[in-house]
Amino acid sequence: MSLETTYDADNIFAKIIRGEIPSVKLYENDKTLAFMDVFPQSEGHCLVIHKSATATNLFDINTDDLAALIAAVQKVASAVRDGLKPDGLRIIQFNGAPAGQTVYHLHFHIMPVYEGEALGRHGSGEPADPAALENIAAKIRAAL
Ligand code: AMP
Repeated sequence: MSLETTYDADNIFAKIIRGEIPSVKLYENDKTLAFMDVFPQSEGHCLVIHKSATATNLFDINTDDLAALIAAVQKVASAVRDGLKPDGLRIIQFNGAPAGQTVYHLHFHIMPVYEGEALGRHGSGEPADPAALENIAAKIRAAL
């Protein structure tokens, strides 16, 4: 998928927004949604998306919608920081398959980093146990 990919309304995050597939939600407002990554690269790895902007990547979104999205990223990242107390925290966003993007609905990764713990592989392996994700999500939600 190139940087000029057309938005596919049936991508997996669009289905999450419509409630067609399950997700462990952390935070939602009128414009944005945050939920746990099902292939977490570290404990607390989560994603933030815009709910109505049909943007495949950073270049497709208007600045007002992007402002709402990055504000939600800051809010949720603060809760991850306070709820899980990682040693560091990455905010990551991939554009195009060659850069590592696998889902073509613009999203920001919030990835806690714990000293001495290697990050897992990106978007692969076995999906996390929903109950385990829910336990971690509860700590993040409590810090929102
Ligand atoms: P990217 O490679 O930047 O497009 O990231 C896509 C992310 O979505 C990866 O980290 C995947 O683990 C994650 N992912 C894929 N399917 C789901 C899903 N159904 N629910 C939550 N996260 C998902």
